[in-house]
This record gives sequence, C-alpha cells and structure tokens, in this order.
Amino acid sequence: MQIDVTELLEETGHSLHLEEEIDYKGHELQDGRAVLGSVVSVDVTLTHLSEGLLELTGTYAADLIVSCSRCLQDLSLELEEELLGLFIPENYEQDIEPREGRYRVEYTGSSVEFWRLIRQDFLVNIPMRPLCQDDCQGLCPECGANLNQNDCGHDLQPEVTDPRLEGLKDIDIESNQ
Ligand SMILES: [Zn+2]
Ligand SMILES: [Zn+2]
Repeated sequence: MQIDVTELLEETGHSLHLEEEIDYKGHELQDGRAVLGSVVSVDVTLTHLSEGLLELTGTYAADLIVSCSRCLQDLSLELEEELLGLFIPENYEQDIEPREGRYRVEYTGSSVEFWRLIRQDFLVNIPMRPLCQDDCQGLCPECGANLNQNDCGHDLQPEVTDPRLEGLKDIDIESNQ
C-alpha cells in the first residue's frame, strides 16, 4: 500500500492519521509457513520528524493462517499488534537513534510503502511451533491418521517400565551361568 506523503513532507511536525485496509488476503509469508487469512486493518499516524524522516505509530490487525506443528491442521491466529516504524529518505545522512522494536524502511520520492514495514512485524509474530491446542495428539506415525479426530487403533503407548523389573537391569546375566 503506497501512501502519498507529499503534503506531510512540506513541514516538520505535520502528521497524518490513516485507517486503511490492505487487501493481501492469501498472501504467503516465509515460504508459505503462514498465509494471510484476512485483510490487514491498519490504524496509524505518520509524523514528519525532520528532513523527511517519517515516524509511524499505531496498530494493525489481521488473521494469520499457520499449520499446527504436530497434526498439520490449519489454524487461524488473530494478530493485533502495535507498530512502530521509521521511514527514512534515501540519502538521509544523519545518525538515527536506535530504538527497540522500531522497524526502519527506506523510501524514495514522495510515497512510502506500508507493507514493507508491516511485513517485518508479521515475520516476528509467526510462531516457531504453532499448536492447534496445547495437548494436540499429532499424527499416527504408523498410518498418518489425525489422532485428535480418531483413534486408528495403532498401539502408540510409549513403553512403560514396570518399576518392579527395574532392578533386573543391573543384573549381569552372564555371571549367573
Ligand atoms: Zn494439532
Ligand atoms: Zn495409525
């Protein structure tokens, strides 16, 4: 989503409030590890700090579809995140004080691209190992059945050690002969 900032650049201190929907539904992130399940609703303010430096503050919301890391079923994550960013004009030469959690995106001319900035925050919010439920049973290693939905009948119980037999482990069988 390109935003024209011509007027904003005319004077420092000017700001622009925007409520927009970016229609990137179906867009894939991180090689398909996540897919946008809704439009991205953006509610932000852009402020001209100085010499073309534009600060963005606000929030965005969207659904992200990811696959459960155990059973591979799709699940939807509702994201509602705060956003802090800086659009830096090309050839900006002054030092910029680093600030934690603030994304930086360069821009040229008189428009900025929101998506480049929001995208970075999406990447941070994709969970490493998403789960559809805390106790997801995963897939049967024998037949691939989703064990949350049905019991395929395969014996998947981990071997249970009978505590009464524990001591036998230490017996050296050959010495008994
Ligand atoms: Zn699952
Ligand atoms: Zn099975």
